[in-house]
Amino acid sequence: MTEFTDPPVSEAAVRVITAFAGRESATVQDILALSQALPAALAGLQPAAARAEISKVAAQFTTETAIPAVPVAESFTDDSVTCLCCGRSFTMLKRHLRAEHGLSESEYRIKFNLDDDHPLVAPNYSLRKADYAKKAGLGRYARDEAVQANLGSQL
Ligand SMILES: [Zn+2]
Repeated sequence: MTEFTDPPVSEAAVRVITAFAGRESATVQDILALSQALPAALAGLQPAAARAEISKVAAQFTTETAIPAVPVAESFTDDSVTCLCCGRSFTMLKRHLRAEHGLSESEYRIKFNLDDDHPLVAPNYSLRKADYAKKAGLGRYARDEAVQANLGSQL
């Protein structure tokens, strides 16, 4: 009878998560997000592939420590939002996050443990844009308006 020498995936995942949890910069949200992401990423994989997948998933959470470049509470004003990865200010972060840091807005929120209502678009800018969209009556702004409506309801 042959015993599988590789540890079961779940055990490997637990080890990764435990190691990650030991990092000073790991937040509870990070750990929970990693615990959720790992099993999904590992489903149905052979141990070798699973290990590669673990590294990949873990890397998303561990390549950069989630220490914000500026304090979160000071990372936005009415006219600008500051990227917590690099400290640069913008009117909106979405494109910058994708282009410079390879992060989606939700990954960014997870990375820095941001509340859902933490603005990623300068509040004044989104107001002006909603105004403009309304005046122009342009359908292509519908998605941004939805974001704006979302922000508005949380402010
Ligand atoms: Zn940045």
